[in-house]
Amino acid sequence: MSEPRVDVLRLGHRKGRDPRITTHLALVARAFGANRFVLSGDKDQEMFDNLKSVDERFGRGLECQHVSSPIGWLRKFVENDAGDGLPGIAVHLTMYGEQFREAIPEIPKDRPIVIVVGGSKVPSEVFKLCQYNVSVGNQPHSEVAALGLFLDSWFSGESLNRKFENARLIIEPSASGKKVLDLDK
Ligand code: SAM
Repeated sequence: MSEPRVDVLRLGHRKGRDPRITTHLALVARAFGANRFVLSGDKDQEMFDNLKSVDERFGRGLECQHVSSPIGWLRKFVENDAGDGLPGIAVHLTMYGEQFREAIPEIPKDRPIVIVVGGSKVPSEVFKLCQYNVSVGNQPHSEVAALGLFLDSWFSGESLNRKFENARLIIEPSASGKKVLDLDK
């Protein structure tokens, strides 16, 4: 049986201010094992095109979509249908939550999960709708760091061993210089 899907929901993207950090968040989602990146706030086709280009070169990993009503989307995810007809699990990353290393063993692994990360201001409904509010330390830092650490723990330290289908560029780990296999050459 295949593993349940892992989604990341990014709240409140601002096209003029956030493209770099939101792109980094999506790249971390992809590299650390998430399957889908759901963007709310401003639509940003340029950012999606950049992410698609990474997928085309380095292998298929991340599906991207924009939602205009993140609260409605989240409610449907947890109450009715996480995409396969069954309700899913929502985990909100917030510095106010319970510690991730203690929370993760309690979270069901047999259902699709969405990891919700905030932007400038997180609406209070998010705290109520998500079944888990989880912190990565209780200091304010970055959604990118919080997501990376959470995903690595979620995948029991194996998050970076993910396989990417149809890669055209394959990097060979090297202690000196860059070793890249280009399948188009
Ligand atoms: N000012 C915002 C608010 O009112 O909630 C938070 C801004 S913070 C830079 C953006 C996001 O990073 C948060 O919504 C949260 O998802 C994540 N984040 C920051 N520190 C975190 C921590 N210690 N643990 C978990 N997530 C964290």
